[in-house]
Parts: sequence; structure tokens; C-alpha cells
Amino acid sequence: MSGAPWQARVLTLFPEMFPGPLGSSLAGKALANGVWALETVDIRNFARDKHRSVDDTPFGGGPGMVMRPDVLAAAIDATRSAGGADLPFYYLSPRGRRMDQALVRDLAAGAGVGLVCGRFEGVDERVLEARGIEELSLGDFVLSGGELAALALLDAVVRLLPGVVGAPESLAEESFAAGLLEYPQYTRPQEWEGRPVPAVLLSGHHEQVRLWRRGEAERITRARRPDLWDRFLARQSKTGS
Ligand code: SAH
Repeated sequence: MSGAPWQARVLTLFPEMFPGPLGSSLAGKALANGVWALETVDIRNFARDKHRSVDDTPFGGGPGMVMRPDVLAAAIDATRSAGGADLPFYYLSPRGRRMDQALVRDLAAGAGVGLVCGRFEGVDERVLEARGIEELSLGDFVLSGGELAALALLDAVVRLLPGVVGAPESLAEESFAAGLLEYPQYTRPQEWEGRPVPAVLLSGHHEQVRLWRRGEAERITRARRPDLWDRFLARQSKTGS
């Protein structure tokens, strides 16, 4: 590998959750080979009192606990300035901007990312304002912590780093690459439970295969994701392609 590894810095109360699934398969190999580097920061190490408390009850009342701004800011400040590069920092949160492949591509093209994982009812709002931290969501559901969302985002980014996926062409054709969902895929056996694979895929005509796949990608996107389809059409009419 040439150059510095892509940097992932994760602030969490559960550092033992990392690398977790990212220690296996493609991401694990890339981590071992120094394509990317993972630094986990235990937020509890930045607690100031003798009980090492990181959370407290919410002002205004209500259930649960809220992560303290002073402890979290100390963890963020120590991590952000480490190693020179000022990485973009995000807080994983159901209120955040939905993660998508465009964000993943942008992050993969940069030097790395810092991810703050919340627990309990979340974090004191002031730390997000004071440190200018944008929020990112994995989807419209509530997790018990940001760690799984951080792992999902890192998995998506790491597979785009140079040399991680063996056949980089596969990245150009997959879902979201061209603004469409992927076409259906088939492998052996050629007939299974009475179901043949589409004949065009056996024809050896590369252009016909390409057109069929393109047609299927459009049909599936139109049927399943009208939001993506509308954006795709709008982009096409703009570029005239
Ligand atoms: N009270 C909060 C939910 C807290 S869940 C609310 O109603 O919005 C606890 C932590 O899990 C959050 O601080 C956040 O870091 C993480 N989390 C929960 N759902 C998430 C999601 N969809 N995407 C990213 N992170 C999430």
C-alpha cells in the first residue's frame, strides 16, 4: 500500500465492539494490510469525577440519561487533533441525514472519518453545536447505540478503498452507482427447480446482455424506489444522456 491508511476514529462507550464484523472478510484483510486504520476511543477515559460518570439525568425531566457535553467534548477534542489531519466528525443519530452511497463515496475519497456513537437517550445538544458536528442516520428506526450504525458506514466506505474489492468493475455496476438499483443476477445451475436463467444471458451477445441488464435495472428501480427513479430521470434530462 502506498500513502497513509484511511483513518477511522470511533468514539464509543463500548470499544470492545470494534472492529467486530469489520475484522472479517474483505474489511478485515484490508485492516490487516494497512489499507485503513481503526482507532477506538473510550469516552469513559475522559470522565472527570471519581465515579467516571459520562451521563446524567435530563434537565426538564423525563426518562433515561443523557451523555454529558464536557466529557464528550474532551474526547472529541483529543481525537480530532490527533495525527495532523482534521477529519470530518459525525454523530450517529436517528435525527441525522440519511446515509447514502454518495456520502460513502465522498468519505472514501477523503482521509478518513471520526464517528461519535451515542448511548442512552443521546447526547447533550450543546456539544453538537459547539463542535459543529453533523448527524448521520442509518435509517428511520431507533438503535440502542450508534455503534452498529458506525460499523455499517465503515463497512460501506472500506469496500470502496483502492485494492479492497478484488474486481473493481463490480463497484461500477452495483446498486446506486448509476442512480439505479442493480439488475438480477444468476449463476449455475442453468436450470433450478424448473426455472431457467434468462436466455439472453447465455447468448454471448455482450451488447444485448448490457441492454437487458439496463432495462431490468430501470424496471426494478421504477417499481421499488420511485424516489430514486425520479431523481434518475431528472439527472438524465439534465445531462441529455
Ligand atoms: N432518544 C433518541 C434515541 C437514542 S438511541 C431519539 O429519540 O432520537 C441511543 C443512541 O443510538 C443515539 O444516541 C444514537 O447514537 C444511536 N442511534 C439510534 N438510532 C440510530 C439510527 N437510526 N442511526 C444512527 N444512530 C442511531
